[in-house]
Amino acid sequence: MSSCTELRKKLFIRGEWIATKEYTKLTSPYTNEVIAEIPFATEEEVDYAIDSAFQARTIMAQMPAHQRALILERLVQLFEERAEEAASIIALEAAKPITTAKGEVARTIQTYKFAAEEAKRIHGETLPLDAAPGGERRVAYTTREPIGVVGAITPFNFPMNLVAHKIGPAIASGNPVVLKPASQTPLSSLFLAELLHEAGLPDGALNVVTGSGRIVGDKLVTDPRVSMITFTGSPEVGIGIRNKAGLKRVTLELGSNAALIIDKDVNIDKVIPRCVIGAFSNQGQVCISLQRVYVHEDIYKDFYEKFVLATEKLKVGDPLDPETDISALISPNDIQRTLQWIEEAKNGGAKVAAGGKAEGNILYPTIILNANPHLKVSCQEVFAPIVVVNKVQSIEEAIELVNFSRFGLQAGIYTNNVHTAFDAAEQLHVGGVLINDIPTFRVDHMPYGGVKESGFGREGIKYAIEEMTELKLVIINRN
Ligand code: NAP
Repeated sequence: MSSCTELRKKLFIRGEWIATKEYTKLTSPYTNEVIAEIPFATEEEVDYAIDSAFQARTIMAQMPAHQRALILERLVQLFEERAEEAASIIALEAAKPITTAKGEVARTIQTYKFAAEEAKRIHGETLPLDAAPGGERRVAYTTREPIGVVGAITPFNFPMNLVAHKIGPAIASGNPVVLKPASQTPLSSLFLAELLHEAGLPDGALNVVTGSGRIVGDKLVTDPRVSMITFTGSPEVGIGIRNKAGLKRVTLELGSNAALIIDKDVNIDKVIPRCVIGAFSNQGQVCISLQRVYVHEDIYKDFYEKFVLATEKLKVGDPLDPETDISALISPNDIQRTLQWIEEAKNGGAKVAAGGKAEGNILYPTIILNANPHLKVSCQEVFAPIVVVNKVQSIEEAIELVNFSRFGLQAGIYTNNVHTAFDAAEQLHVGGVLINDIPTFRVDHMPYGGVKESGFGREGIKYAIEEMTELKLVIINRN
């Protein structure tokens, strides 16, 4: 029986909906109204979920590729049938404007489609062992085996698609999962559990455990039956996980303060709409949200004046209104924090050219000019609709400023000079360089991940499958 239509939700373990003793109230970030009661799992319940996944290991590992693909194809179909409902869930629990939420559901469908396809393409290679003296008449080949139980811990900002980036490749490669969604966005994951159950996933292959990040997270990270932790979230939590995980495989998709360089000869009118999307979609709560823009001095003034005008056209309001561009931040604490950071910027000599104020839980889209690199709005991850725009004298100076960061997820550069483009691609210290686009571009099959405190390991289905499988070597001696 599904728990999706009831106010009081249940854990999903071993193919069943399970009530727990304690519940917490889930409220809408926009209205503050209670929207659900969420089970607060105990350590014993997490233990049961891990045991269920551990028991499901063999059935998942032995399941043929076509069957794993079929389950994912059925999931895609169910998502397509219930796309409206899926988008409403995201809009409700995350205050994501409904139009953006629909976009996330479309992306989620893409991600599971890629997973269904990749399930059929997992293979090793043959090796010429006779390349080494003593290797003659030996045949060698590699295979990729499922790693075992995957502990997946996910953030609030893309509650369906970032979950898909873990569950999709895990199923495609024959691994069972215990999923711990963010406390603010558990409904998307419970919805997924319902769909995957209907799609025919074996019991225990997906277990969804809601509750405290620390209690559930610690148990997943330290339990020896869990072979891998795949985490997307803040650097602070990610580093803590890495320190506790011992020899478990860990992939970390962490934060950033993504930057864009704009060279002097580019057509600003083409760039500005992209910058508005990059800086403000989902209220800037995107790991590759555009946070820093370095513009060549020749076009700096023209750029920021037009950028301010375009930003002021954005509509703030109810996430369920299709006209809304910007809605509430995920928590009132984030309003307090970001207003303090804006104040610090002003006191540090920066100028607020747009926004800079809050109404209820909404922070107006904010553009800050002339912010020095040591201000929080420059060097920390703002995770809010705030972007700093600074003037540079050369591209070399801009590259240096982009690289002056704890983070390195993606960076972009607009230029018409092919040499500048190649130099930037080489010199920017990030996981992905976008030439003539904002750093906020992502499609779901590309390798995605960062350097420095942005984490390590890559997602993008094929790349996540590599992380979720073990390479095995087989040698046949024909001598
Ligand atoms: P977060 O606070 O780090 O939470 C992420 C997840 O970790 C949640 O499920 C959280 O549970 C759990 N958690 C909290 N404490 C834990 C612990 N001690 N052990 C194990 N798990 C624990 O991040 P967030 O605020 O949800 O998301 C925003 C962050 O995610 C930003 O930094 C953003 O850049 C990053 N992000 C990165 C990517 C990427 O692909 N690189 C994508 C999206 C977001 P609770 O919710 O119950 O605390």
